Amino acid sequence: MKKNLIKKDRQELIRKASSDTFDVIIVGGGATGLGAALDASLRGLKVLLLEMEDFGSGTSSKSTKLIHGGVRYLEQGNIGLVREALIERKILLKNASDLVKSRRILIPVKNLWQRIYFGIGLKLYDFLSGASKIGKSHFLNKEKTIQEIPQLNADKIYGSIVYYDGQFDDSRFLITLLRACFEHGGLALNYAKVDSFLKDEDDKIQGVKWIDQESLKSFESKSKYVINATGAFAEKLLWEDNKKLELEIAPSQGTHIVLDRSFIKDSGFLVPKTKDGRVLFALPWNGVTLVGTTDVPIEKVSNQPKATKEEISFLIETWNSYFKKQISSNDVNSVFTGIRPLISAGEGKSTKSISRSHRIEISDSHLITISGGKWTTYRSMAEELIDKLLKHSKTPFVPSKTSELILNDYMQNVPVDIWSDDESLRQFVRHACQYDLARTADDILSRRTRLSFYNRQKSYEKLDIVLQIMSKELSKDETWILEQKESFKNPKTTFSIEELGIH
Ligand SMILES: Cc1cc2nc3c(=O)[nH]c(=O)nc-3n(C[C@H](O)[C@H](O)[C@H](O)COP(=O)(O)OP(=O)(O)OC[C@H]3O[C@@H](n4cnc5c(N)ncnc54)[C@H](O)[C@@H]3O)c2cc1C
Repeated sequence: MKKNLIKKDRQELIRKASSDTFDVIIVGGGATGLGAALDASLRGLKVLLLEMEDFGSGTSSKSTKLIHGGVRYLEQGNIGLVREALIERKILLKNASDLVKSRRILIPVKNLWQRIYFGIGLKLYDFLSGASKIGKSHFLNKEKTIQEIPQLNADKIYGSIVYYDGQFDDSRFLITLLRACFEHGGLALNYAKVDSFLKDEDDKIQGVKWIDQESLKSFESKSKYVINATGAFAEKLLWEDNKKLELEIAPSQGTHIVLDRSFIKDSGFLVPKTKDGRVLFALPWNGVTLVGTTDVPIEKVSNQPKATKEEISFLIETWNSYFKKQISSNDVNSVFTGIRPLISAGEGKSTKSISRSHRIEISDSHLITISGGKWTTYRSMAEELIDKLLKHSKTPFVPSKTSELILNDYMQNVPVDIWSDDESLRQFVRHACQYDLARTADDILSRRTRLSFYNRQKSYEKLDIVLQIMSKELSKDETWILEQKESFKNPKTTFSIEELGIH
């Protein structure tokens, strides 16, 4: 752990948040919000970020964990998006080299025609990577492919094309951003839900009203600009500003299943076209195997999205159609689902600028809403967002500093396997409460560590130790411990197959 870290006292943070005046308040503590908070703090702005649950509890902890150009966007002809993402991939591999690593991925081909088709596509990917290339794509014959992924069914393939992308741990990266944001003078608070805006007689924003989700007390924080980085909830907050505004978000959910390490070792695998025309990854990640994702349109956005039986069956069937080692729901150790707030290109009614896959809109009352985008481009999105804020508020321009900022993994000194050594786990939990605003068992077991992502059932085994340390650190009593146990058993983030009611 770093020596110059400042311990964070939640009551003191609440006092500051509700008494100071800020240059900008950011609502939403995912990749977009924390990226923007860091960018703005580095430019000398006084920043407050408010997150209604935990940092990363939305989509940002439930991604496929790739820092990528997106090979599938190439097929859609979206060259600009791929190029931008590849530039960002290069920046992150350089500036966050502890956190983002290169991953070798194999795409199976079934015949010569596919070898040519995918081979050309990936050469284009190499070309667009330019100087940011992390490895050259090339063909592997059937024997070499099977040597590399022995679990594959040899009858189904002619060979494979190898390519490289970046891989990371999304919520670990996010807590690193949180620390960096505090280090550079920003203030961020979790379990602080924004429910409305403070406005003057001209309908201009003067701040926000928010509720501390622990005490259920209401607070006000002052700022003339607010950034709405609430992901799938962006339209809900926008309507608090003006009921007539629209974002035309078409939400869809994406599910991953997690298997143990025996299913795939060092190279990832990408199914280029599933039954429903999507790509599907099987990736080694932090000692487990991730398989995903699905893409299912949803009517209603929830902060606890849950996989359906059809999604699980689809992932299992797709795996089984390529691998010798067949799986069933008994092999699934954990399931997690995130929501994509896909944006349509429709015309809204506020000041608008559509840019690549994300959109930034500034309302007449000075609410800046950002929607869409991906983890890979969080930094360039934040840069564009804060550029727009400075311009609109006529603040003297200070260029973004994030393309040169080195991000050191906040867990760099944590023992590799804190799960097999209870004393290391206790120490980690203490630090997470003191420095990184962990407030619940799920914060520790799902986002400060990823145990519940690796294996939902196993995470129960550590619940008592985690709560014992947390209750001391946070001065909580037995009732709180019991409530936490109940709440953890009622899953929000990761699910076992039994908890989903699927057998
Ligand atoms: C299945 C899936 C896989 C993906 N895989 C990848 C990948 O491999 N690589 C990649 O680059 N991208 C990937 N993405 C995209 C990427 O994960 C998202 O673009 C990114 O995480 C979105 O971040 P965000 O901050 O905008 O949203 P979120 O992470 O959802 O954050 C929004 C936050 O706002 C908070 N909030 C909402 N309302 C309020 C309120 N009123 N007050 C306070 N807080 C509020 C929420 O609690 C939430 O934490 C994937 C997306 C999905 C769904």
